[in-house]
Amino acid sequence: MLKLGRLGAILVIAAVAVTAALLARSSDSVAGRDRQPPPLGKQAEREVKQMLKEIDAGNVERHDRALAAFGTRHTLSSQTDPNRGIGAARDYIYGELQKAAATSGGRMTVEKQTFTAPAGPRIPSPTPITNVVATLKGTQPESAGRTYVVSGHYDSRCSDVMNATCDAPGANDDASGVSAVMEMARVMAKRSFDATIVFMAVAGEEQGLVGSTYFAEQAKKNGMNIEGMFTNDIVGHGSGKGDDRVRVFGGETDSDSRILSRYIDDAARKQIPEFHVWLIDRRDRFLRSGDHVPFLDQGYPAVRFTEPMENFDHQHQNVRIDNGTQYGDLPKFDDFPYIANVARVNVAALAELALAPARPKNVRVITARLTNDTDLAWDASDDADHYEIVWRATTAIDWEHSRAVGRVTSYTVDVSKDNFVFGVRAVDAEGHRSPAVYPKPARN
Ligand SMILES: [Zn+2]
Repeated sequence: MLKLGRLGAILVIAAVAVTAALLARSSDSVAGRDRQPPPLGKQAEREVKQMLKEIDAGNVERHDRALAAFGTRHTLSSQTDPNRGIGAARDYIYGELQKAAATSGGRMTVEKQTFTAPAGPRIPSPTPITNVVATLKGTQPESAGRTYVVSGHYDSRCSDVMNATCDAPGANDDASGVSAVMEMARVMAKRSFDATIVFMAVAGEEQGLVGSTYFAEQAKKNGMNIEGMFTNDIVGHGSGKGDDRVRVFGGETDSDSRILSRYIDDAARKQIPEFHVWLIDRRDRFLRSGDHVPFLDQGYPAVRFTEPMENFDHQHQNVRIDNGTQYGDLPKFDDFPYIANVARVNVAALAELALAPARPKNVRVITARLTNDTDLAWDASDDADHYEIVWRATTAIDWEHSRAVGRVTSYTVDVSKDNFVFGVRAVDAEGHRSPAVYPKPARN
């Protein structure tokens, strides 16, 4: 019989503890804010890098200046004048998106979604409104019905929101967002993705989110499965020269939109380390709203991209010089390389989402009995190779642990549901991960 002295016993206990700790680490990867983002498949990784290279600030500038040159794009301005007014802008965007579609091998189609907005507080009489919508169809049969929407609004305004004839160049608000979306469409149209991506320029934003509300309502009515929506609105300037951050408003803690905003942050960290996502866990800024809100109202996860420090001399202002200060939303105040970086963040996240499997559905935490562990269950998602369970302390801002659990649809984690927040995500054979889904309490 082996006899251990007191010191020997302590050493054995210590060795067992270290081994147990190492085993625990090898099965659960422990993450933090400096964690490695989830890997893309090698081929996809190269494609995404190539797309980000192809995003061209020169194209963004050309679009932005062209849109500003229509004088005004007010929703109530001329729809037929080929040179001035919202109709000319609509036709320009439609033409540019058609050029992108021509390179897509028939996978991208462009339509003008026109409807008549009824009279309302900012629309004196019924007015036709047109959203320009380019759809890049997904190529994987089980994922093509899953859609991601990225948009900007092409209408503009001056100081008086009802004035449809004043100059309203709207170079930042929101030709910047629309120009970014057109450039994303050009670069992405040439590639194929499992899921469907919609590139959209909406009108009527300044008159009360009219175009985006119509699109979101129709989407809901037609049972469209929108798994994520990004609006890019006022992404033109940063806070001055050389800014390296964009705000992403992702909504409150524990919402699907917040998970989406963190997924965008992960994609940006991996693909564009020199440019940063500044996550804001709010729906939007005080006193303001945007085109993501009608999507949230329909139950779709949606976030807003906006520069970090807005200059209110150059938004919703008549073009003028007052006491030596230039007012108005002019292209000279835009920073086109900055807008290109915002477009790159969008592309990195959209590509990753559209290559990943669908989020698991019907994710539940089973609360039928009192226990100190956590029973999770979910429905299988299309294109999933296996699943991962993630969790974090209730006070932590991001997932701290993940565990691959194989191709199962239920799993018991040996830590208490009372003390942690859980999520379940799907992983495909190439290692693409879906955003996680919070479980809802259920009896079975
Ligand atoms: Zn705007």
